[in-house]
Amino acid sequence: MPTISKSNHQDKAVDILIIGGGAAGLMAAGQAASPGLSVCVLEKMERPARKLRITGKGRCNFTNTAGLEDFTAAFDQGGKFLRPCFSRFFNQDLMRFFEAIGVPGRAERGGRVFPDSQKGVDVVDALLEWCRSRGVQFKTGCSVASLVIEDREIKGAVYRTAASEGVDRFQPARKVILTAGGASYPGTGSSGDGYRLAREAGHGINPLHPALVPLQTSGKTASRLQGLSLINCGLRIFIDGKCARTSFGEMLFTHYGVSGPIILSSSSLVVKALQAEKRVGLHIDLKPALDHKQLDQRLQRDLVERGKQVMSNLLRGLLPRKLVPVCLEQTEIPGDTTGNRLTAEERKRLRLWLKDFQMDVCGHRGFEEALVTGGGIRLKDVDPRTMSSKLVKDLYLAGEVLDIHGDTGGYNLQAAFSTGWSAGRHAAASLATCDPDK
Ligand SMILES: Cc1cc2nc3c(=O)[nH]c(=O)nc-3n(C[C@H](O)[C@H](O)[C@H](O)COP(=O)(O)OP(=O)(O)OC[C@H]3O[C@@H](n4cnc5c(N)ncnc54)[C@H](O)[C@@H]3O)c2cc1C
Repeated sequence: MPTISKSNHQDKAVDILIIGGGAAGLMAAGQAASPGLSVCVLEKMERPARKLRITGKGRCNFTNTAGLEDFTAAFDQGGKFLRPCFSRFFNQDLMRFFEAIGVPGRAERGGRVFPDSQKGVDVVDALLEWCRSRGVQFKTGCSVASLVIEDREIKGAVYRTAASEGVDRFQPARKVILTAGGASYPGTGSSGDGYRLAREAGHGINPLHPALVPLQTSGKTASRLQGLSLINCGLRIFIDGKCARTSFGEMLFTHYGVSGPIILSSSSLVVKALQAEKRVGLHIDLKPALDHKQLDQRLQRDLVERGKQVMSNLLRGLLPRKLVPVCLEQTEIPGDTTGNRLTAEERKRLRLWLKDFQMDVCGHRGFEEALVTGGGIRLKDVDPRTMSSKLVKDLYLAGEVLDIHGDTGGYNLQAAFSTGWSAGRHAAASLATCDPDK
């Protein structure tokens, strides 16, 4: 484990230093700020919590009402690790907490909880106000370059500011909480520094990959459908010819491929399969409410009732406009055939296509467009009850920098807030000998 020397410019020592003022960092800071303890947040950007501001399309889906079992199942891995933390500070606790600091929330479809005001910025402002009211000091525009560790014990962090012109400053601290986030949406400040800092401290980092990320598809079909959103479709993901996942919901076509909730939720599986050089296919059911028999009856009825219409018009009753030419091309049904002249074989091809519209996945978008980062700090070296490092004394780790990522729906922010809560409470309790649960 490297020992990093202290630089010449030394700040006044603090009790607890938080690296990264995002969701986990702000929660950790406010929780750590018990009477008599000095807490400082070093934040790389000029304003803290830039990512939190844009979450949930600016509405901040900060948790989900799912019960503990379903909640932990929404994490790729790490659900088990989160249990002790969730057992102390979970979704209802978070909702009560936000209500107490002036941002009550309410659940929507799928148990997704948003602030009543529907504004993520209100969540950020309330958190900052709460932290400040508890005496937390913020140093923004300060990018932590290294951790200072001596004899496996943390001593503080070295950071840079734009104004320091290459001269590093040393912030001594008795406890350090690393909450520098993942590597996705790097423009928000979370550009993967936390992994480097943790690695330098001796922590293993499981390979990183973009997660909750849009997928690229082969050919020109997606670009022809660009902008089309399918609200209720079925999706099966095939990996090397075998169905690996089934889901139902909303997806969206883009100029490069596909996105939207059911695509993002399946993307981690797809990214891993692509990395292992496996073939990935999307099988889209455009009529999930009808089984094959019901769909055939519906087709027969339409073809009789609207038999004089040409197929390119008739299909408009069955499909969104943009899909009609794609359907005709892929089923090899001439668009100028009238409904009453469609052969039984053509009708069968149409039915099979409607239930199984296929696209090949050829890649995925990068960290710039991924909502979260898969991989990260190996969990076996972190105590799940306290978030403390098992390798470096007085170092705590919380939030997305850990190898934890969940589905869309408020799971990731709850994980960041809960782990931040735990790290802040336990760091403070170990200094002030107070009970972290009170
Ligand atoms: C567009 C988008 C929408 C999302 N929507 C949702 C949603 O609605 N619900 C949900 O649950 N999840 C959502 N997520 C995921 C969620 O935002 C993250 O999982 C969560 O913010 C992680 O919290 P964190 O505190 O660990 O990291 P972050 O919130 O990323 O905070 C890390 C902080 O550390 C700072 N930092 C980084 N390096 C350094 C350094 N070297 N020195 C000092 N500071 C540093 C960063 O500037 C940043 O402020 C969304 C993500 C994106 C990108």
